[in-house]
Amino acid sequence: MADDKVFRKCIACNQLKPRNELIKITFNKSLDEVKVNPDSKFFGRSVYICRSLDCFNNAFKKGKLYKILRVKESDILKEKIRAVLAD
Ligand SMILES: [Zn+2]
Repeated sequence: MADDKVFRKCIACNQLKPRNELIKITFNKSLDEVKVNPDSKFFGRSVYICRSLDCFNNAFKKGKLYKILRVKESDILKEKIRAVLAD
């Protein structure tokens, strides 16, 4: 199925949007690795957020994104996501 036909919910604003408009963050537990916009070969628990500063900030409020992904809080991860936001 084409990416623009698949909808996912942003964890910050709870709106459904086409998957290709969102930032995907995936945690692979067995590799203990988190990737931002991973390729299709990287699997794991995933969250999606809009490419907006509002949703970015909201997603990190009270560590929401970390809790949903079940990963430790990480400034490195946060910066990685912020970098994608600025693209
Ligand atoms: Zn959003």
